Amino acid sequence: MLNEKVRQLIAGQINKEFYSAYLYLDFSNYFQAKGLDGFANWYQVQAREEQDHAMMFYRYLHDNGAAVTLEAIAKPNVPAENDMAVLTAGLHHEEAVTASINGIYAAAGEAGDFRTMQFLGWFIKEQAEEETNAHNLISKMELFGSDAKGLYLLNSELAGRTYKAPAASEE
Ligand code: MG
Repeated sequence: MLNEKVRQLIAGQINKEFYSAYLYLDFSNYFQAKGLDGFANWYQVQAREEQDHAMMFYRYLHDNGAAVTLEAIAKPNVPAENDMAVLTAGLHHEEAVTASINGIYAAAGEAGDFRTMQFLGWFIKEQAEEETNAHNLISKMELFGSDAKGLYLLNSELAGRTYKAPAASEE
């Protein structure tokens, strides 16, 4: 049996991952409306990955015979000032997700729940990558985004991102 606090935190994480998907889908809307289809594609792929994350937490609860409680998903809050504000909001969001997953890891540690700690290892590694990706996008935008030609090339690069199912959810 899972510790009740750990179960609640994981159930809450399902909601946070689906919110992430919703948020990035709205980022995609923002860039689509501006004609930056590459940026829109990048965030659509990101949204699909977030749905995978949600399902990994969902399955983990079921695999452990724990109750899955689903709450309402909040309306996404996309900053509309400029492109950089959107990218920065993405980084801040990932930092918050990292803190949330670290919090579950700490609670699992307190409960002596080594299985959940091991399960969360994949996400801890994934969050490091997510933060790096968000940082890199901001850096590229700072370097190339202020020039129309640079923005065109960056948009073309981001159009090339394709979706891959995460290895840990393929079994
Ligand atoms: Mg995620």
